[in-house]
Amino acid sequence: MIDTTKLLENKLFQERYIKANIAWYFSYLNGKRGLSRIYKVPYAALMKKFFLQKYFEKRVKNGIIDIPYLELVLTTKCTMRCQSCNNLMQYFSPSNQYSCTLEGIKKSLELLLSKVDSIARVRIIGGEPLLFKDLPQLVDYLDLQKKILTFDILTNATINFKDELVQRFKKSKKVRKISISDYRQAPNLKIPLKQESILKKLKENKIAFSYNTTDHWYDTEKIYKRGRSKEEIIKNYHHCKMPCVSLMTSEGENLKGKELAPNGAIFVCPISSSLTRLKGLDEFAGDFLNLDDDKERFFEFYTQDFYKACDYCRDFSKPYKKIPIAIQTNKVLKLEKED
Ligand code: SF4
Ligand code: SF4
Repeated sequence: MIDTTKLLENKLFQERYIKANIAWYFSYLNGKRGLSRIYKVPYAALMKKFFLQKYFEKRVKNGIIDIPYLELVLTTKCTMRCQSCNNLMQYFSPSNQYSCTLEGIKKSLELLLSKVDSIARVRIIGGEPLLFKDLPQLVDYLDLQKKILTFDILTNATINFKDELVQRFKKSKKVRKISISDYRQAPNLKIPLKQESILKKLKENKIAFSYNTTDHWYDTEKIYKRGRSKEEIIKNYHHCKMPCVSLMTSEGENLKGKELAPNGAIFVCPISSSLTRLKGLDEFAGDFLNLDDDKERFFEFYTQDFYKACDYCRDFSKPYKKIPIAIQTNKVLKLEKED
C-alpha cells in the first residue's frame, strides 16, 4: 500500500500532480464552461486559493487518480521534417514510423479511464495529427468521455480541415481550441501552408483557435545516449521537468519489448515516447507507466525523477541556443553524437 501522507509531502508530486491539477482545473473553472460563465464574483479564483489544494489532496488519500494533462501521440508521421523537432520526428524513417489505429487508441484510453477519475486536459499531437484518418471519430469518442474535461489539437497547418472534421469540432462540447503553429518564418519550408483557408473555416464556424507565432526556436540539440551517471540523469530531469506526459499505444510490428506494455503506456514526455519507438520499450524499462499497472504506480510515476530517456537529451542546466524556427532536413537523423 502506498503511503499517501509521504506521497503528499513529496515536492515533485506536489508540483507535477497537485499543482498541475489545480492549474488545469482553475483554467477550466475560469473558462467559458466554468463558474465565471454564471457568476460575476471570481469564484474560480477563490476556489483555487482555498479549496482545490485540499480537494486534490483528499482525493489522493482516497486513492482517486486525476491526470492533469495528457498528450495523445497519434502518429510519428509528419508533413514536415524539422531538424529540431521536440517530438523527434527527424529520427524516424519510413520503415519505423508509428501510427496508432482508432481501435488501438480507444482500447488504451478505455483502460486508462477505467483506472482514473478525471483527465483535466488532453492534447492531440503527432507528428501531424491530421494525417490520422479517423480523427473525426476520435473527436466524437473524446467528446463522449465524461472523465475527460477538455481537449485540443496541435497542427502545423499544412493539411486543410475537411468539412467532416470542422463539423465535429463545431459541435464538440469539449474542444478547447485548435492550436495552430505558424511556420511562415521557417527558412526552407518544402510544403505550402494552408493557414489562410484553415483560419477562414474556423472563423466561419466560430471554432476557437490559437495561433502560435514565434521567430525563433530553442535548439533541442542532437539526441543520443550520453552515458551520464544516475545522479546526473536525475539532475537533468530536474532542470527540464517537461510537463508533457504522453500516451502511445503499443501497436505495430516493430516495437521491441512490447510485452512490457501490451495495451499502451504513458511516458514522461514525447521525447521519451518517441525514443521507445526507436529503440524499444525494453531499452527504457522503468521509464514508463504500463497502462496495465495498478493504481499505485500511477501516483508513483509522478514522483519519479529518474528516466533513462533524460540521458539522451541536452544538458538542461545550460542555456538554450536560439535557432530559426522549423529548419527542414531531408535526412533521417541517427541517435548518435554525429550523423
Ligand atoms: S511540424 Fe515539425 S515540429 Fe511539428 S511535429 Fe512536424 S516535424 Fe515536429
Ligand atoms: S527525456 Fe527527460 S530531459 Fe528529455 S525532454 Fe523528456 S523529461 Fe526532459
